[in-house]
Amino acid sequence: MALMTGQAYIESLRELELEVYFMGQKITRVTEEPMFQPHIHTAAMTYELANDPEYREIMTATSNLTGETVNRFTHIHQSIDDLVKKVRMMRLLGQKTGTCFQRCVGLDALNAIYVTTFDMDRDRGTDYHEKFKNFLAHVQSKDLMSAGAMTDPRGDRSLRPSKQNSPDAYLHIKERTNEGIIVSGAKAHITGAINSHEIVVLPTRAMGADDADYAVSFAVPVNTEGVKYIFSRQTNDTRRLDSPLDSGNPKYAIVGGEAVIVFKDVFVPWERVFMAGEHEYAGQIVETFAGYHRSNYGGCKVGLADVVIGASDWVADAHGVGRASHIVDKLTEMISMAETCWSCALACSYEGAKTPSGAYNINPMLANVTKLNITRMVYEWMRIAQDIAGGKIITLPSEMDLTQPELREVLNECFRGREGVDVDDIFKMLRLIENMSVGAGLPEAMHGAGSPAAQKIMIARRSGIEQKRALAETIARIRPDKYFEKIVGLPETDYWKNVAARIAEQHHG
Ligand SMILES: Cc1cc2nc3c(=O)[nH]c(=O)nc-3n(C[C@H](O)[C@H](O)[C@H](O)COP(=O)(O)OP(=O)(O)OC[C@H]3O[C@@H](n4cnc5c(N)ncnc54)[C@H](O)[C@@H]3O)c2cc1C
Repeated sequence: MALMTGQAYIESLRELELEVYFMGQKITRVTEEPMFQPHIHTAAMTYELANDPEYREIMTATSNLTGETVNRFTHIHQSIDDLVKKVRMMRLLGQKTGTCFQRCVGLDALNAIYVTTFDMDRDRGTDYHEKFKNFLAHVQSKDLMSAGAMTDPRGDRSLRPSKQNSPDAYLHIKERTNEGIIVSGAKAHITGAINSHEIVVLPTRAMGADDADYAVSFAVPVNTEGVKYIFSRQTNDTRRLDSPLDSGNPKYAIVGGEAVIVFKDVFVPWERVFMAGEHEYAGQIVETFAGYHRSNYGGCKVGLADVVIGASDWVADAHGVGRASHIVDKLTEMISMAETCWSCALACSYEGAKTPSGAYNINPMLANVTKLNITRMVYEWMRIAQDIAGGKIITLPSEMDLTQPELREVLNECFRGREGVDVDDIFKMLRLIENMSVGAGLPEAMHGAGSPAAQKIMIARRSGIEQKRALAETIARIRPDKYFEKIVGLPETDYWKNVAARIAEQHHG
């Protein structure tokens, strides 16, 4: 099948009947619900750009399974070049939508399962990798969108899955049959879930032997019996029903459109099961997924920064302060922070390496540093955007008042900028900055791909602290320094004896 266009993707969703709940209502036709439209448009952009010759190089790749051209969101990275193009794709889509375009979680889940099932089969004689490749071929040939579902509800975070009061705190295997497994539980915060074609499930953490039933990975079509979705609320979300202007980014919204996915006795046939009890590999699949996912944030969030920096410059200019030195300085600060994060994303891609499966993985240390920077710097550049835009971003009256003829004149007067700038455009730009800097985008930068402590744990684990201690000990003359000995042409002890003798001679002479 050819690559789907944006419209073909939306058409493909029309055939799917899901059980979705939002604000107390049951919704079966996702494509007809106005609240969901902007999120669907954003995902459609990942399809549309793949058809544009200008972006084909970044947005598509050659499948290692079939040799066919596929959307990069369904591709297993085959080289460093693929890893670099992946983060370029993230930045591009952030620039084109100003929000989360949802598909990276699924992409990272596909790559993490590919890498881990290869190792499992090699070590344990299982056949998960071949089954996964069949599933992947199906995803690629039909150009499907996969939601990546890793995060369990997790109840008491200090307890392992098997020690929780409720078994549903973690998604788990309830029963194994000759035909497959039956699973129950939930996955929380799942981006793009209601407008995907497939749900790809991974375990959420490393597991012990007691947790074997929770070490489960599989894929099911979104409309599988027993699966239902409860769509999340976001700051100012219902504004999109009232007025395009008030919603800030009426085309593409903010963050990804998350949902809780409930699995109630869901049957998964064995050909779609990629881990069922191999608890020793739960940690590997989680870490591999998290590494890929954290590297993305230096792409997508920098794309969003490009938009918000442009918006800040635009508003400063419209208000007649575009050339003020502190504004130029602040914009430069925003750019510098964004490009720092971009450098991190590029670095962890260029420093990637081939795994035994043949797929390429990012450098995990640098990927975790990338995401940790994002948890801070997004807040920082959004703070500056709010500084430049002014308090109007949270005091602007609604479009309903702006369109009242008797109010319009005075509101135009209140919010106009320098001569020649259309006040309607000022309203649009202020609302965009409000949308991007005040709402759900900030906690997404904090917690998406894991909270900061999760990155710090990975950084600490890979810090090579012993090696750093050895470096310090060598410089401090606690350990021998073979290069120093070569430089001075003597064993170190003799060299320092000579130095001591010279100093003594100076003091006494
Ligand atoms: C916008 C958005 C989109 C997302 N999309 C997806 C998605 O598509 N797929 C997916 O699988 N997940 C997704 N997530 C989930 C994301 O990975 C989690 O939000 C993240 O892992 C944090 O989990 P939590 O929100 O439950 O917070 P918590 O785990 O409750 O964290 C809150 C605090 O508790 C600390 N904490 C947690 N556990 C422990 C512990 N054991 N010991 C000590 N401290 C602890 C954390 O470090 C943090 O400081 C998304 C999240 C957001 C916000």
